[in-house]
Amino acid sequence: MSVPKRISALNNMSCPSLAALRTLDTERTHSMKANSGSAVGRVIQLWIEGSFVEEALLTAKREGEAYPKADWDLVAKWARAYVADARNHPGGRHGETDPAKCEAEVKLNIGCHPFVGHIDQVRRLDGRLWVWDLKSGAGQGVDMVSDYAWQQAAYAVACTETWGEEVGFGGIIRLRGYFPRAKVEPSEASVFFEAYWDTAKCRQVLSDPQFLLDMLGRGEYLQLPGRHCRWCPAPSYPHCGDHIEECFAS
Ligand code: SF4
Repeated sequence: MSVPKRISALNNMSCPSLAALRTLDTERTHSMKANSGSAVGRVIQLWIEGSFVEEALLTAKREGEAYPKADWDLVAKWARAYVADARNHPGGRHGETDPAKCEAEVKLNIGCHPFVGHIDQVRRLDGRLWVWDLKSGAGQGVDMVSDYAWQQAAYAVACTETWGEEVGFGGIIRLRGYFPRAKVEPSEASVFFEAYWDTAKCRQVLSDPQFLLDMLGRGEYLQLPGRHCRWCPAPSYPHCGDHIEECFAS
């Protein structure tokens, strides 16, 4: 049985060769942006579990080793805005967050490929569970739903398989949306980007990365250029093809 890959690494599959170069491994990024995103996720988790937001900020700072490069001013700004948004409280439009399932570890197999990951939060709306993912990046919310589609579909199916209860992909919560140019109240900010894909739809979505994972498993590589090329360690497209062949021939 192979070692489970990270569900979040499915984003790398936008180009299968990029995924192969990064090996879909378990390495975590320690950039300021990545650390600030992880830190605000932790603060929000602690708040959902019952801490006051200022207390949650202090606790997360004390766990500083996990977020060595976090910008704590930014983390505090995002966390306070999230907490000030009535939609994140019980009775909100997108349902009630289940504290017991925040940051839960979930697993699934995509075909014969094992994956593991940690979800941000699950909300129960009209009796059904939905995964919501907090994003702190600068992308547009609608783009984020499609950019992270495979990751989010995998989280929903992994929750379903781990807990034995159907879970769908609710959507993305884009934290930067709390700070548009023209000031708005947190409860009015454009931060919720809905998907509401049920479990069957999420399983259907996963047939696409499965096709590519099977291809990589057979040692077949394909280059699909796009915005993700900026993060690729290979020479720029179309020269990456020769580099990849050399890498995997050696
Ligand atoms: S440079 Fe080539 S291998 Fe890298 S992401 Fe772009 S297309 Fe894929």
